[in-house]
Amino acid sequence: MPKAQLEYISSELQKLREQGLYQKLRILQGEQLPVAHFDGREVINLSSNNYLGLTTHPKLKQRALEAIEKFGVGSGAVRTIAGTMTLHMQLEEKIAQFKNVEAAVVFQSGFTANAGAVQALIGPEDVIISDELNHASIIDGCRLSKAEIKRFPHKDVEACEKILKGISPHKGRKLLITDGVFSMEGDIAPLPQLVELAGKYGCIMMIDDAHASGVLGRNGRGTVDHFGLHGRVDIQVGTLSKAIGALGGYICSSRDVIEFLYHRGRPFLFSTSHPPSVAATCLAAFELLDEEPQLVEKLWENTRFFKEGLQKLGFNTGASETPITPVMVGDAALAHQLSRELFQAGVFAQGIGYPTVPSGRARIRTIVTATHTHAQLARALETLEAVAKKLRIL
Ligand SMILES: *Cc1c(COP(=O)(O)O)cnc(C)c1O
Repeated sequence: MPKAQLEYISSELQKLREQGLYQKLRILQGEQLPVAHFDGREVINLSSNNYLGLTTHPKLKQRALEAIEKFGVGSGAVRTIAGTMTLHMQLEEKIAQFKNVEAAVVFQSGFTANAGAVQALIGPEDVIISDELNHASIIDGCRLSKAEIKRFPHKDVEACEKILKGISPHKGRKLLITDGVFSMEGDIAPLPQLVELAGKYGCIMMIDDAHASGVLGRNGRGTVDHFGLHGRVDIQVGTLSKAIGALGGYICSSRDVIEFLYHRGRPFLFSTSHPPSVAATCLAAFELLDEEPQLVEKLWENTRFFKEGLQKLGFNTGASETPITPVMVGDAALAHQLSRELFQAGVFAQGIGYPTVPSGRARIRTIVTATHTHAQLARALETLEAVAKKLRIL
């Protein structure tokens, strides 16, 4: 029995169950592969962010093992005390070079990179102008900064400019911030227009490229490269946890901004740095992006194949233009039911409802990877068609 002071938690959970929104964790048994075992069932896996299949790449595993042998399993301290290893510096140099920027710093995750950077760079006198669908880690960073937060409707450049026009000249700095690829919609930010606005209104321009790194641009260099906007975005955040296949986040900017984050980035100052194996894995992954450009090409080839398949079947895939393709359902309970029945039929696509997406815009989200075969994707399409017809979604 729960203690009286925690009973409200149990009743909140009970409400979720009654609304059909209660979610059990799926347990992955074995490696994160295009066909994987979850909860004792073999399924075509359309739920990972493992875009390039790097979580299990032999070269990366080898480099992680070598790093463990040579440097041990942990770093033993935060970066600013005794936890900066040669491997961390090498990784940051590699990232800066890859992204064509002056400097980069690695944080423990993409989440801490966003939250930590916004909090460090922006203060209570400032204004943040943010796309309404920006990631939770940006939202938390904005709240931690105590700045005034102004949200513009998703990708609405005109509305964004209207907000900028209305900001009093007596206000402090302005931060214009957007995801590069939106994680629930799979659409791409109107970065060229936002960069114009940032220039016109004197904003710091920041982008969160978690779902674009390793996906968009030459060899997966991201949204800035995709649009040819090098030098015009002040701060780029990326993750090492999705296409890169391991764990971590990074911030790219000028040398001064990066050194300032050494002094004011709270996750950097107060949370232990990556184990050497993780840094070595990520370093190997960036090398691989240049050595094996066919990985990104295959990802896009699979994306086109699967997306066209969904659309031919008559599914509503929203505004997606990347490997993230939502299948819009509307009702959250129905989306979760679709996801559950697909799983029983051998396809794992996560159901997503409120509060992750707005009420009434529930969906299942599919993500293809470079390592899926056409046969697997074709089978996933057949299963989707059958289950959706049964539930009268199609
Ligand atoms: C996943 C994600 C993050 C967080 O990255 P982690 O490395 O998993 O912490 C940040 N922003 C966006 C848009 C994401 O999708």
